[in-house]
Amino acid sequence: MSQPIVVTADRAYLDGSVVAGGVAVTVVDGAIAEVAPGGAVVPGARTVELGDRTLLPGLIDAHTHFLGIPTDHYDALLWERLDYRAIRATGEAERLLHAGFTSVRCLGSPVSSSLSRAVREGHVAGPRILSAGQSLCATNGTWDIVHADRRVADLQEMLVDGVDDLRAAVRDRVRSGALVIKIGLSRGRAGDRSHGWGDDPARQEVAYSRPEIEAVVEEAHAAGLRVSAHCIGDGPVRAAVECGVDVVEHGFGIDDETRRMVAAAGVPIVTTFTGLAMSRASSERRGASPVDLAIADGHLARMREDFARGRAAGIVYALGSDLIGDPDQPQTAAIEEFVRAVEWGMTPREALDAGTVVAASVLGMADRIGRIAPGLAADLVACPGDPSASIERLREIDFVMSDGIVRSTG
Ligand SMILES: [Zn+2]
Repeated sequence: MSQPIVVTADRAYLDGSVVAGGVAVTVVDGAIAEVAPGGAVVPGARTVELGDRTLLPGLIDAHTHFLGIPTDHYDALLWERLDYRAIRATGEAERLLHAGFTSVRCLGSPVSSSLSRAVREGHVAGPRILSAGQSLCATNGTWDIVHADRRVADLQEMLVDGVDDLRAAVRDRVRSGALVIKIGLSRGRAGDRSHGWGDDPARQEVAYSRPEIEAVVEEAHAAGLRVSAHCIGDGPVRAAVECGVDVVEHGFGIDDETRRMVAAAGVPIVTTFTGLAMSRASSERRGASPVDLAIADGHLARMREDFARGRAAGIVYALGSDLIGDPDQPQTAAIEEFVRAVEWGMTPREALDAGTVVAASVLGMADRIGRIAPGLAADLVACPGDPSASIERLREIDFVMSDGIVRSTG
């Protein structure tokens, strides 16, 4: 047993509310051993005194991308060297950890499974990464760049069609270290400029057949992995729920009946507000056309409306940023997902839960992360003030511990 560490603070976020009057958390061998409101200090322990701060569970971004490409040059997806991309993404992962995120899901990147392994083995500092590896995309599906020659699209090793090839692709992702499987289920209609998001969130098509989706789900579940689907619009969201997909990403552009179905099935939706908002902002800075800006505004408006309707219908939401990297979409801006969730209707406490305990269940890791409780990983962050009263205080996180190791102190 290593020397225990006792972390003390004036306040702590425990089981959905802030407890004042001092809290001492004892950490042994990377895990939380004891949580003592009132603040007992174990003899012989090393003590970290945080004083006038609120201690929180490490934050979780349930949807990010460590793509390792410059977000002002997306064409780099097609030609940049993978070793360079991995090194670039490693720096971004370390900065995200320092911002307070101790766990993430990386939902689509050819370098993220190796990055996840390097973090796990302790070679580099970063959040715990539940990596999907490269996403699965149908020909003419979600992320297929249809104006490019097919050979260019094939360079990304993302296009997979048919039940047998999809089964093989899931096995290949697992072999390469994926811990979750990501599939693109919706595409914009023909004529839309972007299949990924389309011109109209309410008019999207299902990109895979039901037998194909079911094969992916069966193969992933057989390996003990969950399936997450990029899904916008009624048809795709229904197909995801009916075929046993575990988590829906984005999940807007749907009607009341589909909402009831998602809520009844208990399938969580991951929010992804910040990535879209920052992408819209950078498009404007770079002189995008009024038509393109109006399309982005339409998506944001529908996202906001459906977030309110979905919450009223009982859908469970976890926070995920969908950020891609520097310079236009730094992953550290994931803090803004909490701020926007409150701006769009959650209470600060609901947002804190959506980005910790609920996100942990989306990762399938509720027994290991997402709360400050004995037996869980010692992933702790702290900020001045009380974020359950003012969510913006999360921007001031100045203490980060993960797996019992202090990663950042301001
Ligand atoms: Zn994404």
